[in-house]
Amino acid sequence: MTDRMGDEGGMARQRREMVEQLKSYGIGNPRVLEVFGMVRRELFVDEATRAYAYDDCAWPIGYGQTISQPYTVAYMTSLLFERRPAGKVLEIGTGSGYQAAILDALGYRVFTIERIAGLFEMAGRALESLDIPVERRLGDGTLGWPEEAPFDGIVITAAAPHAPQPLLDQLADGGVMVAPIGDLAFQQMTVIRRIGQRFEHEVFHGFAFVPLCGREGWPE
Ligand code: SAM
Repeated sequence: MTDRMGDEGGMARQRREMVEQLKSYGIGNPRVLEVFGMVRRELFVDEATRAYAYDDCAWPIGYGQTISQPYTVAYMTSLLFERRPAGKVLEIGTGSGYQAAILDALGYRVFTIERIAGLFEMAGRALESLDIPVERRLGDGTLGWPEEAPFDGIVITAAAPHAPQPLLDQLADGGVMVAPIGDLAFQQMTVIRRIGQRFEHEVFHGFAFVPLCGREGWPE
């Protein structure tokens, strides 16, 4: 069977098994699970880890960075989708481009920023090969993308010392930020919802991400 992304067999079985594993880990949103069953993760990992693309692992993608493990991507995506299921989303930390592809498949209009030129280009090639219409920018994502604000959702896929003020300023009224916030060793997944000039926080499980570097992040 050919899926929406043109995969004829190949790794489709492994992708289905990953979805079953995500379910067993507690990811319950049927639409989120559906898009994890559609997006071809093997096109976003290095050649060396392609055979293991559907293992629940954060594989290296070069430049000291990683593609987040499927569970983490699904967890963050669910937190956003269940609170703000449509609109414009800004991702900070394009990395491989996989999280951006998942957000696109959910129907969001996706903007993503990466600070490392080599990853910016690699992710661009993967997304373009699949005709995924994500808007990309190279630079310091902690400053956001003011020309495109406000955003219904902002997803930070690197460890933040705090919620960057420029990103809070760029959230729409009712918009939701999902970010791992903490120190360099351990962060708690945090959801921040903007209500007028007020920001409501919810704190979830602990994770360990690579650092968010930049003016409103950790020093280079
Ligand atoms: N979302 C990615 C994916 O789907 O593959 C995984 C992201 S990886 C865990 C974190 C990424 O954040 C790295 O690519 C890193 O270079 C990037 N990053 C860190 N600080 C950043 C910043 N200030 N602006 C943009 N990207 C940043």
